[in-house]
Amino acid sequence: MAPGGTRAGHGATALAMPGRTCRSCGRAAASPFGSSSAAPRTDRCLRRRALAPRGREDDGVNLVERAEGFGVTVAGDKAALDAATSAPLLGLFADSHADYESDRPGEEPSLADMTRKAIEVLSQNENGFYLEIEAGRVDHANHAGNAKRAMTDGKLFADAIALADELTDDEDTLIIVTADHEHAIAMNGYCGRGTPIDGLCYDVAKEGIMHSDELVKASDGKPYTVVGYLNGVGSVIAEQADGTFAAPEGRPELTQEQAQDLDYVQQALIPKDSESHSGVDVALYAKGPWSHLFDGTIEQNVIFHVMNYAVNPQ
Ligand SMILES: [Zn+2]
Repeated sequence: MAPGGTRAGHGATALAMPGRTCRSCGRAAASPFGSSSAAPRTDRCLRRRALAPRGREDDGVNLVERAEGFGVTVAGDKAALDAATSAPLLGLFADSHADYESDRPGEEPSLADMTRKAIEVLSQNENGFYLEIEAGRVDHANHAGNAKRAMTDGKLFADAIALADELTDDEDTLIIVTADHEHAIAMNGYCGRGTPIDGLCYDVAKEGIMHSDELVKASDGKPYTVVGYLNGVGSVIAEQADGTFAAPEGRPELTQEQAQDLDYVQQALIPKDSESHSGVDVALYAKGPWSHLFDGTIEQNVIFHVMNYAVNPQ
C-alpha cells in the first residue's frame, strides 16, 4: 500500500496536477505562483496565503499570468477543469497537496476527474502522449498511521486506473500501474472471511463461510485491527512523565466502531513522529503494447487460479 502511478499513452507530455482548495487560507501574503487580478479561485486563494514557504520568495513574477501568456489554460477548480477543452492545461487546485478523498470538497476535482480531462486533451495530440497519475495522499495517510484514509485514497487510485483503461485502447496504449515504495504496514492473518479490512479482526467461523461475530483476542486479551504498522504515531509505547517510553496499561482496548472511524490511527510498535517507508517489494501491473516484458510479480491468489486451471483446463 503505497503511492502509485499509472502511465498511459504512446508519446510524451504530462498533465494533471493534484491540488487542494485553500478554504483555510485567510491572510494576505505572497503566492508561490505570484498574484493575479483575473485569476481563477485557486490563485486568489494563493494570494491570500501567509508567508511564502522557504525558497519561494515573492519576486513579483506571476507564474500563472506567465503561463497564460504562453497560451496555457489555467484551471482553479473542478468547473474550470471541466470547461477546459485543449492542452496545454495547468490545474492549480491548491498551493499544497490535494485533500484526502474522504475530505475532498465538491469544487475540487477528484483524481478520476483529472484523469478524464488529461486523457481527453492529450488524446488530441496525433503524436500520442505520456501521462503520469499519482495518488500521493496514500503515502501521507500511511505516514500518519491512518490506514482508512490510505485505503480510501487507494480506492480512488483504482478508480482512476479503471477510467484510464476505459478511455484508452489496449492496441496503442501501454498502461503501467505500480508504486515507488512500500510502507511499514502489514495485515494480520487468520481473520474470518468478511472481516472489515478497516476494522478489528473477527474470528473464523466454525461453521459456514462468513466470520463469527466474535473478535479475535491477542494474548493480552484485547482485540486487534486487521491492518497495523511496525512504527509510527500510533505506537502503543508512549512517552511517560519522566521521559521514558513504556506501555504501563498495555495496548489500548478498542471497539469495532472506534477502529473503523475515519480518523482512527492504527496501533504500531516503534514510536515515531511519522511512519516510515519500507523496503518491501512492490507490484507492477501492465497491459497494452509490450506489457509482456513486465514479468515476475503476481498476486499470491493467482497461484491458486493457475494451478486450478492447470488441472481443470476446461
Ligand atoms: Zn512518503
